[in-house]
Amino acid sequence: MWREYVREVTPYTPGEQPGGADVIKLNTNENPYPPCSGVARALKEFDCEALRRYPDPAVSKLRGAIASYHNLDMGNVFVGVGSDDVIAMCYMTFFNSDKPILFPDITYSFYDVWADEFKVPFTVKALNDDFRINKSDYYVENGGVIIPNPNAPTGIAEPVEFFEDILNHNRDSIVIIDEAYVDFGASSCIELLSKYDNLIVVRTFSKSRSMAGSRIGYALASEEIITALHNVKYSYNSYTMDSVTIKLGVEAIKDEKYFRDNLDKVICTRNWTRDRLNELGFQVFDSSANFLFVKPSGISAKALFEKLKERNIYVRYFNKPRIDNYLRISIGTDSEMQALIEAIAEII
Ligand SMILES: *Cc1c(COP(=O)(O)O)cnc(C)c1O
Repeated sequence: MWREYVREVTPYTPGEQPGGADVIKLNTNENPYPPCSGVARALKEFDCEALRRYPDPAVSKLRGAIASYHNLDMGNVFVGVGSDDVIAMCYMTFFNSDKPILFPDITYSFYDVWADEFKVPFTVKALNDDFRINKSDYYVENGGVIIPNPNAPTGIAEPVEFFEDILNHNRDSIVIIDEAYVDFGASSCIELLSKYDNLIVVRTFSKSRSMAGSRIGYALASEEIITALHNVKYSYNSYTMDSVTIKLGVEAIKDEKYFRDNLDKVICTRNWTRDRLNELGFQVFDSSANFLFVKPSGISAKALFEKLKERNIYVRYFNKPRIDNYLRISIGTDSEMQALIEAIAEII
């Protein structure tokens, strides 16, 4: 009989993680460059004696470092094991009404998975034909709103005023802006935090800080929101972030120059790749992220995805309505992108 009571969910499908040295991996938006050198130093100098003890459940050192980086108080910062963990906690804490939460039809494909997992009703709002968000779609009664800026997998960003309009029409809901890629060229909604106590801005160390393997994400919001998140988190698992990660996270935000240089390199490579793909006749969306969303020319997206894979080049193909003829290509190093362009030119 127990099978009747098993929760059935369709899990989120992450991009493949192929092994091997000669693989060019452009399918999960990781950063092609290592984290700043302070991270390597901290790891080398880590005193393993410290592992005897539980980590600080309040993660005060890392939260303090993130708070001062953004000129906020520690009471405005919640950290989690990747922003996936942070967003899941937000669903558990805030999305408990009978009204549906709202997000775009084409967006981060984890949003509907969490909705199923936590039994949260949801309604998707279709992007327009140019794959832009129509803000008035979010001016209806709802149980919460979650939107990435820039959006994924399109890479298209909207300005802060756009989200302020959505916030002004949603004074009774929690509005989450997922800024996983914001450092690569979009404007942050952090400046709106002082005006809207229902806004949550979610960030990650995985993309712009080259720390996907460490799993660090955070939310910035009013103290009332952060306290509510902590109450739920401490009732679920108090010690989610380990001592090593806390230490490395503090180091990862210290080197601002390295961080800026790294972003500049990725953006420069993105623009070069965009121009080459345009020359090959591809439709390329204007990207403010570390990936390009493209419609191939002369070949279907699926065929190109498979042919690139035969050459050990991995990009992301989504077998989903409306976007099944597009590919999402993460920005790698210059030489990786040159190899990609050469391979595509040969294939088509
Ligand atoms: C990558 C990504 C995340 C999750 O990143 P973590 O590695 O869990 O921090 C969240 N939202 C979007 C839109 C992403 O692309």
